[in-house]
Amino acid sequence: MSDKWQRYLRQQAEIGGSEVYLAAGQGGSGAGGQEVSAAPQPRGPAQIDWRKGAPPIPGPGLTIDLPAPDLLGDGLGALDSLAAIAERIAGCTRCGLAQGRKNTVPGEGDPAAGLMLIGEGPGATEDETGRPFVGAAGDLLTQILGSIGIPRESVFIANVVKCRPPQNRKPLPDEASACLPYLRRQVQLVRPKVILALGATAAEALLGARQTLGQMRGSVHRYGGVPLIVTYHPAALLRNPNWKKPTWDDVRIARQLLDR
Ligand code: URA
Repeated sequence: MSDKWQRYLRQQAEIGGSEVYLAAGQGGSGAGGQEVSAAPQPRGPAQIDWRKGAPPIPGPGLTIDLPAPDLLGDGLGALDSLAAIAERIAGCTRCGLAQGRKNTVPGEGDPAAGLMLIGEGPGATEDETGRPFVGAAGDLLTQILGSIGIPRESVFIANVVKCRPPQNRKPLPDEASACLPYLRRQVQLVRPKVILALGATAAEALLGARQTLGQMRGSVHRYGGVPLIVTYHPAALLRNPNWKKPTWDDVRIARQLLDR
């Protein structure tokens, strides 16, 4: 499917009259890392002109205030590094997901990232490795980031829940709320410039909204003062390629917010 994503990007570029290149190393495993343009082949970092045809930054949406660190509970506010939070998560038994896990998946990336991505929860590969977004959806995510000129290593990637739900089901509301203080503290420490919520579960958990993904997309929400954009989950894109165009628009909005 990542081939399809690449074809889609090429189509977009053709529409915009520009050329698309995914540089070696940008695409992770699978089809990633290959140039996809039919045009002559420059090497080097991604050269996609993501600005061409990018939608304007939309208006404001919901505003969510974060509790002050000392009100996060469990002394989380006193943890002043991502490593300390990860260590706390490793021993967490706040919900039933703790029983089935092989590894906790606290999140990873640049602790001073401008862009923070938030997914739903670990799947099988993430549970095995302790790392977020390392399966097929992760490869696609890496490519999406590459398409807007952002190396995966430069972002911070976390999930709503840090332990794998059985059979990859959606986290239950009480599992999400038990885990949310960790994510809040992670946001407070990373202090990103932009948050990208991947999929309805992440968006609902962060915004506390009972809205459809369609309703939550297309606005600049605020989460603890940080602009937050909602888009489709990469796994959903693998199932439904029709969502790639709206995702491409969403990530280009996030990219513009990063540049502000
Ligand atoms: N991998 C993750 O880490 N999170 C998701 O939401 C999906 C896959």
